[in-house]
Amino acid sequence: MIDISIVVPLFNEEESLPHLAEWIDRVMHSNGYSYEVIMVDDGSRDGSWHVIEQLHAANPAYRGIKFRRNYGKSAALNTGFAAAEGEVVVTMDADLQDSPDEVPELRRMIVEDGFDLVSGWKKKRYDSKLAKNIPSKFFNWTTRRMSGIHLHDFNCGLKAYRRDVVKSIEVYGEMHRYIPVIAKWAGFSKIGEKVVQHRKREFGATKFGMNRFVHGYLDLMSIMFMSKFGKQPMHFFGAIGSLSFLLGFVALVVVLVLRLAGRMALTNSVWFYLSMLFVLMGTVLFLTGFLGELVCRNSNTRNQYLIEKEL
Ligand code: UDP
Ligand code: MG
Repeated sequence: MIDISIVVPLFNEEESLPHLAEWIDRVMHSNGYSYEVIMVDDGSRDGSWHVIEQLHAANPAYRGIKFRRNYGKSAALNTGFAAAEGEVVVTMDADLQDSPDEVPELRRMIVEDGFDLVSGWKKKRYDSKLAKNIPSKFFNWTTRRMSGIHLHDFNCGLKAYRRDVVKSIEVYGEMHRYIPVIAKWAGFSKIGEKVVQHRKREFGATKFGMNRFVHGYLDLMSIMFMSKFGKQPMHFFGAIGSLSFLLGFVALVVVLVLRLAGRMALTNSVWFYLSMLFVLMGTVLFLTGFLGELVCRNSNTRNQYLIEKEL
């Protein structure tokens, strides 16, 4: 088996690629690893694909996959994961901000220390403070709190995985920010961290603007929700639906009794409307849960489990 697969998602990075390839080759050769580099061209409109063709012609360890249009970093990673054949799979940005010099230690942590996933930590970042550093501190803090995974830098592009991990998880949408969360959810709980060198972007421009944080949070919500209730929507909607219905129903009875006793006029009582609201909300939530259960029952992944060992 190949020692290392390096997966590089890229979008319009023609100037960086030759330097990156040279650097990767240097590190791989000096450590004597067998390796492959899978460059996933996420619909670049510059000369990136041409560079990849040249790299492949010079050295078949360089493989290329080109998307017909720009699908996003998650799609590129997912495709690279499916193609990777190495024992350890390392992902790395194409823009030279991640250093290939980190790869040997990342690999050692997987192979010798037994980690499933090791994430880079850009302890000292070379990005603009306002646009990245401060929002990303907040972002990492919430992700840490919500997922219970103690990483400082979830979104670092430089990560290493045991082969099993990348073959077992699916990254879609913009979920590349949460791969450690997805991996933990799939049962790969030995997640480590390594401080890595970060560098300034030399060529080209960043592909992600400020909306990354808005999207990031919505994705975090859906991922947490999916992991807790994705397979049992009734446990969430049914529970709060029943509670709301019950509260509303009891209140409605009280209100009606008071009305019959002549102590209260229904039409101008806020309690009447509130209790009606709760009864209705409860019914809707309960039905939502029920519909969710029907959807799950028909999903073809309802019985998809990851088996670790078998005798
Ligand atoms: N990237 C990609 N598809 C996209 C956007 C980005 O494959 O739609 C790649 C990009 O070429 C780079 C990596 O993802 O290799 C990280 O992107 P970038 O450097 O722009 O992010 P930043 O470092 O600013 O967070
Ligand atoms: Mg970058």
